[in-house]
Amino acid sequence: MEQIRAVVEIIQRSTDAYMFILDLTSDIYMLPEKAVKRFPFHSTMIENCTETLKKIIYPSDYEMVLADIEKCRLGEQDTHTLEYRWLDRMNRVVWISCRGTVVTGAEGRKLLIGTVSELGKKAKADNITGLRRETRFRLNTESLLRDRPASIRYMMRMGIDNFKEINEKEGIEAGDEVLRELAECILKTVDESVDVYRLMADEFMIVDAGTSERQNPRTVYKQIQGTIASMAKSKEYSRFYTVSAGVLEGDFSGRTVEEIMRYTEFSLNEAKRGGRNQMTIFEQASYEVYLKRLDIRKALRQDINNDFRGFEVYYQPIVSTSDYKLVGAEALLRWQNDKYGKMSPAVFVPILEESGLIIPVGRYVLWEAARTCKRWKQYIPAFHIHVNLSYVQLYRSDLMMDVERCIQEIGIEPESLVLELTESGYIETNEQIKSLFKDLKAKNIDLALDDFGTGYSNMRYLKEIDVKTVKIDRSFVVQALQNDYDFNIISHIIDMVHSLGSAVCMEGIEEKEELSKMMATKPDMIQGYYFGKPSPPEQFEENFLKDVNFP
Ligand code: C2E
Ligand code: MG
Ligand code: MG
Repeated sequence: MEQIRAVVEIIQRSTDAYMFILDLTSDIYMLPEKAVKRFPFHSTMIENCTETLKKIIYPSDYEMVLADIEKCRLGEQDTHTLEYRWLDRMNRVVWISCRGTVVTGAEGRKLLIGTVSELGKKAKADNITGLRRETRFRLNTESLLRDRPASIRYMMRMGIDNFKEINEKEGIEAGDEVLRELAECILKTVDESVDVYRLMADEFMIVDAGTSERQNPRTVYKQIQGTIASMAKSKEYSRFYTVSAGVLEGDFSGRTVEEIMRYTEFSLNEAKRGGRNQMTIFEQASYEVYLKRLDIRKALRQDINNDFRGFEVYYQPIVSTSDYKLVGAEALLRWQNDKYGKMSPAVFVPILEESGLIIPVGRYVLWEAARTCKRWKQYIPAFHIHVNLSYVQLYRSDLMMDVERCIQEIGIEPESLVLELTESGYIETNEQIKSLFKDLKAKNIDLALDDFGTGYSNMRYLKEIDVKTVKIDRSFVVQALQNDYDFNIISHIIDMVHSLGSAVCMEGIEEKEELSKMMATKPDMIQGYYFGKPSPPEQFEENFLKDVNFP
């Protein structure tokens, strides 16, 4: 025995694992000094192993471990290979892998000799939360999918909504604490037979393939929310966080781990996109929509990198109501692709925005429109070109620099340019944008407030940002044509806009009767199919610039 111990001590120096000898006959357990430091063993030599392990092994794993050792003792098996949980000196859960072999010595004495290694050290378990990690989730899920896919009821991927913020504002330790707390909340809520893993960063995976009573994932999610809330309360609201979750249910046979990872990630992101603090159940149809959007984005990017292949700028006439003469045009982006054909800007502009691609495309439109405007000023010296801007361009690019460069390179007067912005909540709140508006004003570049009447319709903006023109959206006009109430509202709004010193451009007039009726509200300009649809520059020039008078 002493000889074996000496050998073990030597080998111990060259490994991270804890080597152990368990005398199955006398129940004596020997382990190295460093195991005693980390786990609450009282010495390196333990007389009644079975009793002592009761304090070390995580309670619900104890019976299983003991049963396995018993089989070794009875000679029913000669190896012991198990993954289970120990509790360290801080009473934190540590996943370990225990592997041993039964050796029969002199006098028939049976020894189990082997190693205990911490899974956390191999990134299979996490010493912050005491949960197993993604590697282990993948391995276990692979065997679940292979052996008993029908037993899987749901998988729930859960993420902390403001984890980055907690880490940044309160430090990594606070982040770790939240992770530990959430792990605790989840474990408290789910049944013993449900597996919980920690994936990367702030994400957890809950796998119900258990034998206990079936629980509805939504109920489980709500309960976890409840536990988090009461935990926050018990800690006197010193820290607050919420969680979102994505759930995959249904038939798991034929699924792969990769699919599960992708689908649950998608649903979790959906929950976050939907405003966080909520749970989303995976739906194939919305996933397909998402994939299509990704594919459209890819096609857009390829075309942009191919010198804006398939992109074009169309122009729609803007007519003055005093004499029905052309005063300008709005530049409207068009895109045509081999795979997707012609697509409405209402569909592809938002995709350009969310990917940031609107920045290069916005530049392309600005340069095209400025060039065209310069040409058309030969016909109408006071011609104005309207260019739509996205809030992404305001926030994420140096718009002022682009506009100045464009004006300079093309050589047009800044007064010819009108930048159209959709009204929304961001305008008045952001200081940086307010100062951008001042700079534009100082450079004599006019602003138009687009889609008026569809969103916030806050008159205050008009004062704040000093717009030259307010564009009333077609949907608003359609309503006014249908009922007197809306008609009166539009009339009043137009009066108010006028009294604030801005002009009104009414969009979407399609018929002569519509024009006659809406003229009573006294708009200053009209843009609508009645005067002309958006068309390519050559056609616009042919139809509207070469000696044409409108009806
Ligand atoms: P918007 O800026 O409000 O442009 C007016 C839209 O109303 C255009 O749609 C135009 O074709 C349509 N329209 C004009 N008159 C009538 C009419 O009489 N009847 C009907 N039914 N529709 C009319 P379009 O070209 O499909 O553009 C849709 C939106 O896409 C634009 O709305 C704008 O928000 C956005 N967009 C277009 N080009 C650009 C661009 O270069 N940059 C950015 N950021 N957005 C753009
Ligand atoms: Mg517009
Ligand atoms: Mg509009």
